[in-house]
Amino acid sequence: LTQEVINQIAAGEVVERPASVVKELLDNAIDAKATQIEIKVRDGGMELIEVSDNGIGIPKKNLSEIFLPHTTSKISKIEDLNTLLSMGFRGEALSTITSVSRVHVTSKYEDEGIGNLVMFNEKGQSDIRSAAKEQGTTVRVENLFYNIPARKKYLKAASTEYRKIYELLNRYFIVYPNISFKLSKDGKEVLSLSALKDCVGGDICKERVEEMYGKEELVGIKYEGNGMKIKGYSGHPSSHKSKNAKQFIFVNSRPVTDRGIMRAVYEGYS
Ligand code: ADP
Ligand code: MG
Repeated sequence: LTQEVINQIAAGEVVERPASVVKELLDNAIDAKATQIEIKVRDGGMELIEVSDNGIGIPKKNLSEIFLPHTTSKISKIEDLNTLLSMGFRGEALSTITSVSRVHVTSKYEDEGIGNLVMFNEKGQSDIRSAAKEQGTTVRVENLFYNIPARKKYLKAASTEYRKIYELLNRYFIVYPNISFKLSKDGKEVLSLSALKDCVGGDICKERVEEMYGKEELVGIKYEGNGMKIKGYSGHPSSHKSKNAKQFIFVNSRPVTDRGIMRAVYEGYS
């Protein structure tokens, strides 16, 4: 198989739909220590997904490499997995996203005076050009699955794809109260959350939850024992909902879906 086809097959594992691209780009922004992240989505992410961050940026010399398979700045040997704190480490996201969409990256590294722009598609990479940019990185992903009609056909209506993106984003908004987020949909800003200085990234903070869902009566939860720590907030029984759409569960700050845990919480209110 050609590298192009290998990457496209690998993309099936990483990129199922626009929301998977958003997840990978957010993880990269968080790994880059961003405190401001802006997300733009058009046509449910099928036409455009753009994530801009104010993180450390990408050095010019690395810009051609980040799109190669198994290229990561996060680990270099297997032992590194034991102490891993980053969201990503497989070096697969950008290489696979690039094989199924058109990607522009503009980045300014913290130690460099000027930003750079590079464009990628499944055929390869453009020249690197200088570009005006504040510190950080903007990744623009256009026309997802334009070259794989069979995958494109599998996507749902733009409104459904957008909802999946929005549900995913909500999880990040909750667990990263230290980051300010802006979201725009089809050219209109739909949400803006400010960074909460006293909150820690990866930890749920009451103020952020209230900013998102209003001042409900939230009860703090804390448990430590049996080799685990559980922390969080729970609504008062009087604001009990019949659906679990607003149950958010994280393991080591990563959003997870687990029917067992969801059910257990739900039963607690029975
Ligand atoms: P991984 O996150 O597993 O390392 P990716 O394919 O997602 O792999 O990204 C490849 C590399 O590109 C990262 O290891 C990182 O060095 C760089 N990179 C990607 N996105 C950003 C970003 N927003 N800011 C800084 N560096 C980035
Ligand atoms: Mg990554």
